[in-house]
Amino acid sequence: MADPRGFLKNRERVERPTRPVPVRIMDFKDVYVRQDEAIVRTQAGRCMDCGIPFCHSGCPLGNLIPEWNDLVRRGRWDEAAARLHSTNNFPEVTGRICPAPCEDSCTLGINQPAVTIKQTEVAIAEQIFDNDWLEPVVPARLNGHTVAVVGSGPAGLAAAQQLTRAGFTVVVYERDERLGGLLRLGIPDFKLEKDVLDRRLAQMEAEGTRFRTGVEIGVDLPWDQLKARFDAVIVATGAPVARELPVPGRGLDGIHLAMDYLVQSNRAVAGDEVPDQISAEGRHVVILGGGDTGADCIGTAHRQGAASVTTLAIGQQLPVERPVHQPWPTIPKVHQQTTADAEGGARAHLASTVEFLGDEHGRVRALRVAETEYREDGTRGPKAGTEREVQADLVLLALGFTGIEEGLLTQQLGVHVTRGLVARKDGYETDEPGVFACGDAGRGASLVVWAIAEGRACAQEVDESLERWSRLPHPVDPD
Ligand code: FAD
Repeated sequence: MADPRGFLKNRERVERPTRPVPVRIMDFKDVYVRQDEAIVRTQAGRCMDCGIPFCHSGCPLGNLIPEWNDLVRRGRWDEAAARLHSTNNFPEVTGRICPAPCEDSCTLGINQPAVTIKQTEVAIAEQIFDNDWLEPVVPARLNGHTVAVVGSGPAGLAAAQQLTRAGFTVVVYERDERLGGLLRLGIPDFKLEKDVLDRRLAQMEAEGTRFRTGVEIGVDLPWDQLKARFDAVIVATGAPVARELPVPGRGLDGIHLAMDYLVQSNRAVAGDEVPDQISAEGRHVVILGGGDTGADCIGTAHRQGAASVTTLAIGQQLPVERPVHQPWPTIPKVHQQTTADAEGGARAHLASTVEFLGDEHGRVRALRVAETEYREDGTRGPKAGTEREVQADLVLLALGFTGIEEGLLTQQLGVHVTRGLVARKDGYETDEPGVFACGDAGRGASLVVWAIAEGRACAQEVDESLERWSRLPHPVDPD
């Protein structure tokens, strides 16, 4: 039972401490430092166990938040870890990079700052690592069924871990030479240091999950052959196709997709040789797009020593607070601020790029930008007569993702694609019997917490379809 007066005794929400900006932008290490244990416990004690925990439904994983908040308040870390692990395979990841929809849903948030749920989660995850509570959960027996998981992002890994623990023989295929999907090569170390992934992957290997890296399904091994070899196939290949900006000048040198830039930077930080790496050093950088990818470009450009960093977003600035007349936690908020926001750079909203302008060497030198106009027919576009130039010698397009790389998957299997994503029937199974899809590949570009939740739910459906019944949890429906 939570302390029902905890939030009255401790009204102040204490944020997780960060390294000072001038220090942290000198390297790619984690922005955050560990929070004092006593503070974590006091903060967890602000959870009043309200009886109507909207945080449960705010979290796609259905994390048992009031339960582990109270266990942390009491210092019962091992029990808190067990409760957290019962719904979340990778709390060390979500505790670091989830935008925490649970906090948006916190009942206390109606008239006080929400409980610091994400900080409690990461503190439990740190205790798990410190105390080696990552013992492999090896199944008592193998059930004789085999499952191929294609893609080692959070969706594929969560599905693989659930199925391995349930007794399936699971092989994860990953085309990259490293495991983790966007957690490894998309998200920079200052948000998620990679040894965090390695420790979890070691646990998975010890549990019996087999990993095959450097294998691109469709190319190195055709999809139909994979299907013939395994009892079930899970497509967890993400939604990596980036949205383009087809305006004049797009072909100039110095204009890149944000993911090309971030992947190269992450490889370099990991110690790889990256010939002709796209670098922001000494450059005037303009980032188009204000989401997570854009924010990661801001942080990376500052760390590489950019001369200036400007973000242009076509839409309006979203509020960071819920309106006073709509305080209810079931109303989703609001714009999430990132640590990159504090690290400098300029931002302009309602800015539509009309054209890229080049110099005599064919390299970008500026963008012609107009104010965004919202029209009566519901469309939006540049407003005539408002154009201005913005200097740039490196432009990064962080405009979102349109879906999967569909060619080989659809040609080699009877899988259909709807609006750029793998089409699924009622649940996670596709039109092709025995082929399932989860994570961004089926849902569209989303969040890590959704990828884990879908991976878990997909594993449950695979288990049920092959074993006829399942004890695995099914936290979310695909739509
Ligand atoms: P992915 O992580 O994309 O993994 C798919 C994997 O499949 C990749 O490793 C790929 O190489 C592999 N693959 C693809 N095709 C094949 C094939 N044919 N054969 C073998 N392997 C294949 N979410 C948050 O919650 N918080 C954040 O802070 C956050 N920041 C982000 C920052 C960036 C820059 C980006 C791009 C996304 C961010 N996200 C964030 C979103 C989050 O990373 C994704 O929603 C999540 O990783 C999706 O997981 P997934 O497993 O579905 O796919």
